[in-house]
Amino acid sequence: MARFLEYQGKSWLAKAGMPVPKGRPASTPQEAKEVAEWIGGPVAVKGQIQAGGRGKAGIVKLVNTPEEAEAAAAEILAKTIKGLPIRQVLIEEKLDIKKEFYCSFVINNSREARSPMVMFSTEGGMDIESVPEELLIKVNVDPIKGLQTYDAIDLAVKAGIQAKDLTKFASFFTRLSQTFKKYDCQTLEINPFIMTGKGDLICADCKMEIDNSAVGRHPEFGIKIARDLPGEPTELDIIGWSIEETDARGTGFLMNMGYDEVSPGYIGYHPIGGGSAMMGLDALNQVGLKPANFADTSGNPVGSKIYRVAKCVLSQPNIDGYVLGGFMMANQEQWHHANAMVKVLREELPKKPGLPCVLLLCGNREDESLEILRKGLADLITPDGPGKRVEVYGKEHVTDTKFIGERLLALSKDYRAEKEAQGK
Ligand code: GDP
Ligand code: MN
Repeated sequence: MARFLEYQGKSWLAKAGMPVPKGRPASTPQEAKEVAEWIGGPVAVKGQIQAGGRGKAGIVKLVNTPEEAEAAAAEILAKTIKGLPIRQVLIEEKLDIKKEFYCSFVINNSREARSPMVMFSTEGGMDIESVPEELLIKVNVDPIKGLQTYDAIDLAVKAGIQAKDLTKFASFFTRLSQTFKKYDCQTLEINPFIMTGKGDLICADCKMEIDNSAVGRHPEFGIKIARDLPGEPTELDIIGWSIEETDARGTGFLMNMGYDEVSPGYIGYHPIGGGSAMMGLDALNQVGLKPANFADTSGNPVGSKIYRVAKCVLSQPNIDGYVLGGFMMANQEQWHHANAMVKVLREELPKKPGLPCVLLLCGNREDESLEILRKGLADLITPDGPGKRVEVYGKEHVTDTKFIGERLLALSKDYRAEKEAQGK
């Protein structure tokens, strides 16, 4: 899913007419101080990462002066939480919180529903998992009309909201429902939304995820990649996405996995299909190797698409090898992979002579495909040729993850030793 950071989600909430605190993001302590000056008075300084539990992690701080905001921002921006560096903080007016509530709109995939669902609890602010089931009220929502006022009032009554506040809560819920629909959200969670001393309802937090399939309808979001990513897309992610976007024939998935480009033991990873990808990881894990990236070319992609993905996988600097992991009897035409790999390796191996390449391909047209690989690379696979560590396997090793792992390990050790001897 395409996910927004809190401050981004809140800006879309504000554009949809939802009440959010006055605030702006900042990337430096100095900028944080300026935003605090602009707000005037006490502020909340909140680390922006794609993870909940920030309160507990100490990256939500309440301060009284711009100088304190600057210091809090400096402290938060220096942290890394759950492996995610904090690049921005949100500076917001401090809220006068009388009570915290929980509300979210999600997709209810159950067979009886297949619709959005709203969840509301008077126990806001904490992890929703720790709210007792009976205090979490759930109501399915009409996918076309959205939550209607009478249903919203019913929801508030069930949760025990007092009569004088029912209209206020119902209006909040129906507007949030329309916002969920307007933006094609998959999840819109406001935890907490709060009631101020004056009795106003305000969204104090925001987790917004957009349905990947709807991203094309929302150019206003400027989402580069409609996919779950741990952080900002890398260059490889962007190229991988463009391969998929520009050619709908079969899958051409490519994703960065935080490969650090320095450590040994990373293999350019190119499995064929989901189950195959799991077996390929098994192959690497068993011998202590790691995938540099994630990829997948399945669903009968054309050769040109496989070629583009494999080029990217092999473009990663300093990898210790490459694996084409066809750990399955594919019903796709395997000669597309064979032809693509011949072209790629003829272009790439001279740039990385001796790179270990273990190519496992089986399934439809297997014999022809292996023949294409062997013939097409024959002049490179010689004792001194750039393809000297290329090995081609077929169905006899289709489930043999240990064997493939061991071949990769042996070849990559040899390759590293050779590079070190050459002082590279
Ligand atoms: P999360 O822990 O990542 O979900 O971050 P939240 O934005 O939900 O913040 C955690 C808690 O900090 C909230 O439940 C509030 O109790 C408190 N908090 C967050 N923002 C404010 C604010 O602007 N003013 C005040 N007074 N408290 C806040
Ligand atoms: Mn929260």
